[in-house]
Amino acid sequence: MKAVHNFCAGPSLLPQTVYEQAAQAVLNFENTGMSILSISHRSKEFIAALEEARHLSLELLGLDKKGYVALFLQGGASMEFLRIPYNLMQQKAAYINTGTWSSKAIKQAQMLGEVKVVASSEDQHFSYIPKEVRVEEAVDYLHFTSNNTIHGTQFNYLPQTNAPLVCDMSSDIYSREFAYDQIDLIYAGAQKNIGSAGVSLIITKEEILGKTKRDIPQMLDYQEHIAKDSLYHTANVFAVYTCLLNLRWLKQQGGVAAIEAINNKKAALLYQTLDDLDFISGTAAIEDRSKMNVTFTFKDEQLNAIFDQLCTEAQITNIKGHRSVGGYRASLYNAVSLSSVETLTTVLQQMKTLV
Ligand SMILES: *Cc1c(COP(=O)(O)O)cnc(C)c1O
Repeated sequence: MKAVHNFCAGPSLLPQTVYEQAAQAVLNFENTGMSILSISHRSKEFIAALEEARHLSLELLGLDKKGYVALFLQGGASMEFLRIPYNLMQQKAAYINTGTWSSKAIKQAQMLGEVKVVASSEDQHFSYIPKEVRVEEAVDYLHFTSNNTIHGTQFNYLPQTNAPLVCDMSSDIYSREFAYDQIDLIYAGAQKNIGSAGVSLIITKEEILGKTKRDIPQMLDYQEHIAKDSLYHTANVFAVYTCLLNLRWLKQQGGVAAIEAINNKKAALLYQTLDDLDFISGTAAIEDRSKMNVTFTFKDEQLNAIFDQLCTEAQITNIKGHRSVGGYRASLYNAVSLSSVETLTTVLQQMKTLV
């Protein structure tokens, strides 16, 4: 394969060994003589893989034996925007609005009850994280988005509430240590730091479920999926297996703390480079900058074409900002190497001689 520096925001880069092992499983899954694409989701081999993935997903976050259960379900993180209020909302829920994905989650919750937006950064184009959010009033749960993939901001603290805390961690789960055990329900589309697209991970405390009086369609009912061990219906067999391979890889790297140290280096190098170049503007408030999705623009838009050309020459791809906000975005998920970031910073430095 040619050496491309892929900064895709999702589906994200995965480690080379994960690609190799996944490719091998397509040809011959664990010496069964069958492809992973053509084995039963109820075969003992797949069930073993699913169970290992569910277990590792908790262990790597330090959530083993703490009352949590992990599910691998289909529908992406967007499905959870609806599944969460179905399962948790009785009358009123609190949401923190920090970007496009939070806004979408709010819209879905509004279909089932009252949503109180307790804090929002919409007034400044979602360029910052509201501080010290504390929800005293009685609500069924408080929802926030730990990392705002499109706007490049990230929570560095935990909102406070007595209600269950729910977090969309699609784009920073497994990237850093966090007070995971203070969150009651964590969910994430797999395609950013967990595995390939087509499956999402839901980690929930069992004790928060079963409290609404609402009839929940079976496909949307977490308790139904828990009772069936994530096999209420055909699982996304290949995607779950890819998640397992990637979680195993993460464990081999030393787990979340070890990957966080590398992620910190990557983000520090890129932000330092951007800050030193006076023809670039960051788009996120400095204290809230995301270590996973680094967003920036050129003050003079005419520089875009030059930068694009240099990126093409350096084999840097998928660095354009989300279509809704424009500019540029480098996503630094776990599998993106420090050397890819160095290539990008070299290109940015090169711009100095051209402006
Ligand atoms: C990508 C993303 C989503 C949407 O995930 P899908 O799996 O495409 O539904 C939701 N929330 C956040 C924070 C994301 O980054």
